[in-house]
Amino acid sequence: MRENGTYDELEPEQGGRGNVSRETEGSHRLAVPHPRFSGVSTNEAYPDWAPNAATRAPSPRISAGPRPPVVELDISAPANVRWTGTVYERGAAPIDEEVPLGQDELPASTRRTPPSPRPHSAVPADTEVAVTDAYVSRETEDPPLALEAKRAVQILNPSGEVTMPRPLHRRIVSVANQKGGVGKTTTAVNIAVALALHGNRVLVVDLDPQGNASTGLNVPHHAGVPDIYDCLIDGAPLDAVTQAVEGIPNLWAVPATIDLAGAEIELVSVVARESRLRRAIEASRAEYDYIFIDCPPSLGLLTVNALVASREVLIPIQCEYYALEGVQALTSNIDLVRSHLNPNLDVSTVVLTMYDRRTRLADLVEQDVRTHFGPKVLDVVIPRNVRVSEAPSYSQSVMTYDPGSRGAVSYFEAAREIALRGAEQTGEQE
Ligand code: ADP
Ligand code: MG
Repeated sequence: MRENGTYDELEPEQGGRGNVSRETEGSHRLAVPHPRFSGVSTNEAYPDWAPNAATRAPSPRISAGPRPPVVELDISAPANVRWTGTVYERGAAPIDEEVPLGQDELPASTRRTPPSPRPHSAVPADTEVAVTDAYVSRETEDPPLALEAKRAVQILNPSGEVTMPRPLHRRIVSVANQKGGVGKTTTAVNIAVALALHGNRVLVVDLDPQGNASTGLNVPHHAGVPDIYDCLIDGAPLDAVTQAVEGIPNLWAVPATIDLAGAEIELVSVVARESRLRRAIEASRAEYDYIFIDCPPSLGLLTVNALVASREVLIPIQCEYYALEGVQALTSNIDLVRSHLNPNLDVSTVVLTMYDRRTRLADLVEQDVRTHFGPKVLDVVIPRNVRVSEAPSYSQSVMTYDPGSRGAVSYFEAAREIALRGAEQTGEQE
């Protein structure tokens, strides 16, 4: 469906992806791919810069090795100035932010690391770079990325008082809503990053062929990269397709490549087609506190696989007119899966996203959703915030891209609520 385009042409309220073109436009402004990731993205946002797929270097697998030592930060610089070797004001056009400085030339003790874009510009973008292990490991230990994470925590949680307790049992959470563009991916990515920055071991499984979560976490996901398709169709172990997320300690991701677009059809004839993902997760030896599954905007077999593998469902609901309409179909699907395939499944969390406080409509939708879902709705509401929508263009979550933004602070709060609510539950999680 996606391949012939009809899917994407639908309006969001018809189950299509009305926001995709917006995303694409935003991403076009970026145009700062690092040669190490040549051809990495299957996102149509980069149609031009990797013209010859056949000559692409294989993507490096980033191992979950020891993290680089943390370097102390001086964040006494004025809040509206970011250092990248050149000073520029907040809000400057992203493309101008690229500066030809190597990392070594940025004295960490005097300069803040820029939240974006990641300063990979030491190598010109059109240079062919041999991807060697040495090169990869140098990148993996890139101090500025570790600094970004540390700076995010310092800004979001300066006193260190806020804790996000690790759950007693692993929590597997499907982030689902068959409507496109309601904030599933944004919510999965940002809550995962917030939890990981506060000591939880988190895995994000990208189950959408669009691969937006992979893009947002800067995880290679071009054609040929081992991905969730291999688990679902070929029975590959989850750990074999898992990558560490660069720059965020305790965070891992399973990418989705374009291969996944065919999985919905291919799954139909596969044995135990509804529980392929559950099997893959059960076979994993890694110890995660949270596994977030970013679902595609449909109620097909991919989403059913997510629901069968999960204990919890997190539903992001966009504060707009038809907000609750599609949710009804989702909850009846959840009921079906619960009665036939996974008795433990429950909607644990509802998050209101893209809340625009200037509109009365948002207020009404909030009341409606709170009446319908009661205490499952998080107290915090995620505002519509431009920094949230900019962050993926820089392959970052808003937590590291602009930790002081309202979007980041809200997602931080949301993660804390999720962690605290989980800690209150004493029952079996799996
Ligand atoms: P889904 O995964 O449900 O399709 P996304 O998370 O991709 O939805 O969000 C759709 C679009 O809305 C994206 O372009 C995203 O950047 C943008 N977006 C999501 N949340 C916010 C927010 N709080 N403020 C502004 N833009 C947002
Ligand atoms: Mg998505």
